[in-house]
Amino acid sequence: DKINIAIDGPAGAGKSTVARMVASKLQYIYVDTGAMYRALTWFMLKEGIPSENSENVLQKAQNMVIELKPHVNGQKVLLNGEDVTPYIRSSQVNNVVSKYAQIEGVRTKLVHLQRQMALEKGVVMDGRDIGTTVLPDAEVKIFMTASVKERALRRYNELSQTEDISLEQLEHDIAERDRLDQQREVSPLRRAEDAIFLDTTSMSIEEVVDAIVSYCVI
Ligand code: C5P
Repeated sequence: DKINIAIDGPAGAGKSTVARMVASKLQYIYVDTGAMYRALTWFMLKEGIPSENSENVLQKAQNMVIELKPHVNGQKVLLNGEDVTPYIRSSQVNNVVSKYAQIEGVRTKLVHLQRQMALEKGVVMDGRDIGTTVLPDAEVKIFMTASVKERALRRYNELSQTEDISLEQLEHDIAERDRLDQQREVSPLRRAEDAIFLDTTSMSIEEVVDAIVSYCVI
């Protein structure tokens, strides 16, 4: 029988890479919840609605349709039918996404959508609050992290082809996003009590994937 797998952890811990690979090994569906918060953020920036203006954000979000479509390289994010995948990982979005993500109504909407996606089981979902809030009954819960330095290096290798950005700047940005994600009042990043803790600082991607798959074989 299929199960649900929740993977949480801070920015840049490699959750999405690992979750995508676990999903492909088990022939499960991968749900990247960060991409949903990012798509919403990108849309609000485009529409010129600041995060401080939560009423306008919520109003704009009412008719917003976010869809995740499986794709050879992971998944595509569609916002009102438009493929926004290329835009949602920019530094511009990185720097403010935590602020939009702490608007309560935004979370209510996206958490509802995420739960619907997991109803049939067979889902690998990654984010910040999956094991604690979105899928508290997930059969396997992982909390993965790595040192700030290592996470910055991983993001650098990912971003440096498309953006002119320094490793020091990324280290600073990641530490700042950790702070925002951990200290916000609404749904802060927390490890679920029953989550398996994985420090991936000196693990390869394959090692992490194999470890997680081994927990899923019941
Ligand atoms: O995982 P990713 O780095 O793409 O997430 C982007 C941001 O979205 C996070 O920094 C966090 O503020 C927010 N997020 C969240 N809850 C989730 C997933 C992401 O608040 N489940």
